[in-house]
Amino acid sequence: MKVEYQLEKVNDHIDVLAVWDAEWNTYTNAYFIKEEAGLTVVDSCKEGHLVFLQHALHKIGKTADDVKLMLITHGHEDHVGGETLFTKARKVIHADETLPTGSSISGELVDRGTIGDYDYTRVGYHSPGSVVFFHRPTRTLFTGDFLCFFGDPLSDGGLVSKGDDLRQAWVEYLQGGGVADLPVFLDGLRIMKEYDADVLCTGHGGVLVGEIDVFLQELIEIGEKSQ
Ligand SMILES: [Zn+2]
Ligand SMILES: [Zn+2]
Repeated sequence: MKVEYQLEKVNDHIDVLAVWDAEWNTYTNAYFIKEEAGLTVVDSCKEGHLVFLQHALHKIGKTADDVKLMLITHGHEDHVGGETLFTKARKVIHADETLPTGSSISGELVDRGTIGDYDYTRVGYHSPGSVVFFHRPTRTLFTGDFLCFFGDPLSDGGLVSKGDDLRQAWVEYLQGGGVADLPVFLDGLRIMKEYDADVLCTGHGGVLVGEIDVFLQELIEIGEKSQ
């Protein structure tokens, strides 16, 4: 049986929580970023995963009330589900996303902008208002489900690693025609590459560290060839 969740340091500022979702057969991630203004959360797993979010916060010496900002990559239940925990946070999502009824999330994000230490851009693949967030101080890119490892095992190198095996799996997925709307996907990859990130934090599974630009360029070239 798989462990229920893993919590690991991405760097001095960021922790990743990867919850094993036995129902959907995938790891689902949430991220905690320590900032001067308080804690920021990127995505929040499912509502049924609240207890894991609480455990993780406890382990990093924080509580849900320390969370002042919640950035949501898109409105699917495995990303917004935990939002009820963060009653002291400003919670934001792109205007084109459908929100759960009665949620306190603000659909205020536009197609490109800045919020605190983050730059963001709508990539519009996977869901209409999917955005990627770039944390400038750590050069970390949060990609939600635009680029993720849904249903994949973790890398042999661990939850946070270079992840060569995961990269290769994505290359093969793209070569095999796994991406439906290739032009939109390629535009999103080019946007991601512009950020020149050092770390790639996705919505599901492994966190990739190092040579992100090389990986993205490889995917762009494969995509362009198969168009
Ligand atoms: Zn999704
Ligand atoms: Zn997801």
